Amino acid sequence: MALRYSKCGLPAMTVEVKGLGVRCSECKREEAVIELKYARKKLCPKCFTDFFVRRVKRTVEKYRMFGPKDRVAVALSGGKDSVALLDALKRAFPDQDIVAFYIDLGIHHYSSHLKEKVKALTDRLGVPLYIYDLKEREGYVIDDFLTTKFRSKMCSVCGIVKRAVFTQMAKEVGATVMATGHNLDDTVGTMLSAFFAGDFESISRLRPVLKPLVPGQPKKVKPLFNTPEMEDLYYVVINDLPVQECHCPHSFGASVSKYKRMLDEMEKSNPNVKFQLLSVFLKKLVPMYEKVKEMEEERTQVFLEVKECKVCGLPTSSPDGICSRCRRVAMLKERGGQKVEISAEEVRSLMEEGKRVVFVDVRSPSAYRMERIPGAINVPKEEFEFNQRKAIKKLRRKYGKGTVFVTYCYAGRESYPVAVALRRGGLKGYSLLGGISEWKEKGGEVETSDAEVKTGT
Ligand SMILES: [Zn+2]
Ligand SMILES: [Zn+2]
Repeated sequence: MALRYSKCGLPAMTVEVKGLGVRCSECKREEAVIELKYARKKLCPKCFTDFFVRRVKRTVEKYRMFGPKDRVAVALSGGKDSVALLDALKRAFPDQDIVAFYIDLGIHHYSSHLKEKVKALTDRLGVPLYIYDLKEREGYVIDDFLTTKFRSKMCSVCGIVKRAVFTQMAKEVGATVMATGHNLDDTVGTMLSAFFAGDFESISRLRPVLKPLVPGQPKKVKPLFNTPEMEDLYYVVINDLPVQECHCPHSFGASVSKYKRMLDEMEKSNPNVKFQLLSVFLKKLVPMYEKVKEMEEERTQVFLEVKECKVCGLPTSSPDGICSRCRRVAMLKERGGQKVEISAEEVRSLMEEGKRVVFVDVRSPSAYRMERIPGAINVPKEEFEFNQRKAIKKLRRKYGKGTVFVTYCYAGRESYPVAVALRRGGLKGYSLLGGISEWKEKGGEVETSDAEVKTGT
C-alpha cells in the first residue's frame, strides 16, 4: 500500500505501508506495519486501526466533546486529518448523529478535486454531506483575494472564511458540535510559535474543546488534538480512504513551519516530546493564563464584549461590530472581481491597448524549444517552486512592475500556481486559460523549433 499525499504548505510526501518483519505487539499474530516509538508498539493494520479509533473514543469521552443527543458536524477539507477523523468517529460512535460539511472555496482545480473525494468518502460511510458553494452563496471565491492586499496571506484569509462558514452551516443544519481535524503536530507547532511570540491568547484558543461564545453557536471540538500527524496519514492509507492527491495552488513553493520542523528534530531524541509539550501547555500554561486574564478583567472591569456581527450576525468581539471575515469580504467587493485566468482574446486586447505583455512558458525547456508562443520566455515550473523569490525578483528587475505576465502550459493547470505566485510577489500575473492548446485552437500564433533555426540563419 502506498499513497502520495500533499497538504497545504507541505511538499508532497509518499507513505508506503509495508511489513516490518516482526509480529504485531498486540495480536502477536499478524505482521506489524507501523512502529509507534512513544507507545513502544509495533502494530499490524487491524490493531493500529483499533488503537487509533480507541484513542479518538477515549478523547471524546474524557473531554466530554459530545453526548448521545448531539448532532456532530465534521468539517471536511478532503485532507488526511479530517478524512481520518470522520471515519474514526463513525467507527467509535456508530449510533451518533454525524453529518459532514464541505465548503467549495472555488480554488482553481483544487476545490472540485476535493469535492469528488469527500463525496466518495461520505457515500462509503453513509454520512449525510452538506456542501456550501461559496460562489453560489456569496458571489466570490477564495482566489478573488489574490487581487487584494491579502494576496500574500491567502491561507489566513481562507481560514477566516472557512471558520465563519462552518459556524453558519452548523446553525443552518442544527449541529450542536463542530469537530475539526487538528492533529498533535498542528497543535503543538502552533503553540510553540505562539509561545515564542508571547501570544498566550492564541495558545489558550488551542484547547481541545471551545465552548460557544454565545448561546446557539456550536461547541468546537478537536478529537485528534493528541493524534500524531503521521498516524492520520497511516490511518488513511491502511483503510484506503479517499483523500486529496493534489496541491493547493496557494501553497505552491511554501515550506513547512520552522516550529514543526524543530519538533520533528526534537522527536528523534525524545519520542514523547510532542505529547509532553502539549500537556505542559494545556495543563499548566493555559489555566494559569486564564486565571491571570480573569483577575485582570475583574481589576480593570474591562470585559471582552461579544456582539453579533452587523453584516452576518455571527459572534465577534471586534470594536466596530464587523467580524474579520465580513471586513475582508467588504474589501474584496470594493476591488471588484479581477480574475487570475485570462483568455486568449483578453490577452490580445491587452496588447492592443499597448500594455507590455510577457508570455512565460512554465513547461520543460524541451517542450518550450519544440513549440512556444512567439516571444515567450521559459521559466520551468520547478524553478519557481524551489526558488520563487529569486525568480520573481529577476522578472521584476528585467521587465518592471507594470508588465503583464501571462503564464502558460499545455492546458492551464500547471501555469495557474505560477500566476498565483507572481501575484503574491506583487506582479501582474495571469494564467492563460486552456494553455497553448487553446491558444492554437483559437488561431493564436506559435513558433516551432524550425522557426528558431530559421531566425538563427
Ligand atoms: Zn495485530
Ligand atoms: Zn460577519
